[in-house]
Amino acid sequence: MALPEILIDLHKIKQNVQAVLSLAKPYGTEVVGVTKSFLGEPEIAGAMLAGGINMLADARLANVKKLRQAFPQITLMLLRLPALSQAAETIACADISLNSEFRILQALSREAIKQGKQHRVILMVDLGDLREGILPDDLFALVEKTLKLDGLILEGIGTNFACYGGVIPTTENLSELAGLAEKVEQACGYRFAVISGGNSANLPLLFNGELALRINQLRIGEGIVLGRETVTRRVLPGAVPDAFVLRAEVLECQVKPTQPKGLIGQDAFGQTHQFCDEGLRRRGILAVGRQDVPPEGLILRDSRLKIFGASSDHLILDLTEAPELGVGSVVEFDLRYSGLLGAMTSPYVKKRVKLA
Ligand SMILES: *Cc1c(COP(=O)(O)O)cnc(C)c1O
Repeated sequence: MALPEILIDLHKIKQNVQAVLSLAKPYGTEVVGVTKSFLGEPEIAGAMLAGGINMLADARLANVKKLRQAFPQITLMLLRLPALSQAAETIACADISLNSEFRILQALSREAIKQGKQHRVILMVDLGDLREGILPDDLFALVEKTLKLDGLILEGIGTNFACYGGVIPTTENLSELAGLAEKVEQACGYRFAVISGGNSANLPLLFNGELALRINQLRIGEGIVLGRETVTRRVLPGAVPDAFVLRAEVLECQVKPTQPKGLIGQDAFGQTHQFCDEGLRRRGILAVGRQDVPPEGLILRDSRLKIFGASSDHLILDLTEAPELGVGSVVEFDLRYSGLLGAMTSPYVKKRVKLA
């Protein structure tokens, strides 16, 4: 047994896919499965496909390549804007990319012609979250120019909320996207096949019955991997939050004070802490630290335990209320998105798929 490990339950991922698909079904909205939180690992992506997903998307070309090798027939989307220096690889591996820069669209066009391919593009519009996308007023001109590029198929437009600014997708701002699409469609005499509404922050609109018409695609990562929408992080109906569980071992368990002794300066990460004196507690030191997972991303599965803090290689827990736990015990955590991303990316965390 090599700990820490992240235990991955493919059945639960499949269950979450089905929960998301049944939310989207009444709207006829296509769900694209986002694989970036698990580095595009084909075994896990395969569970998304088994659950009924038909298109996969990842932010990194390296992951898209991995997916391409494993699933030659599946439609793949590159989520992060393609880099000018990676136009050739983008055309080679991805069927669809999200774009906002004309120079890059020109480069993709040249490459698509060179490779004898038709590459599908979605133009991203920034409706206020201030990450990627052109401003609404500039969309018409970009559409006109893009339509003239050979080798590219303008599939439609898209947006992204709740990433940088934390702007919540609502009926209002998504109707703005749909309205903008219709205005530009009329002006250009071209119909967009896809209006890609966003990420897991859109899921509450589905269960509130509020998704704007014409939004016919959502790109869903967290809703599938952690079974939650991302506005208030509620678990979706029919989904489970524990498809990924982190497990770590207790190295030391001793009764100690809660108030450090001596002059308090900065910790290993330049932070100064306030300590609350809770008297003597049974403190467990686990063999998992910030180099494995950010402690903010961990959720204790046992509600009797509490996290005191973490350093590079250690996590310190209050085990007082769980007297059966001691040296050698294994403690389990559910993960928030930051925890999942950190643990999946850390080379120190073993990834183990749970056998049925
Ligand atoms: C990561 C990402 C998503 C998926 O976000 P979740 O909140 O995990 O659903 C969707 N679209 C883009 C452009 C992304 O980068």
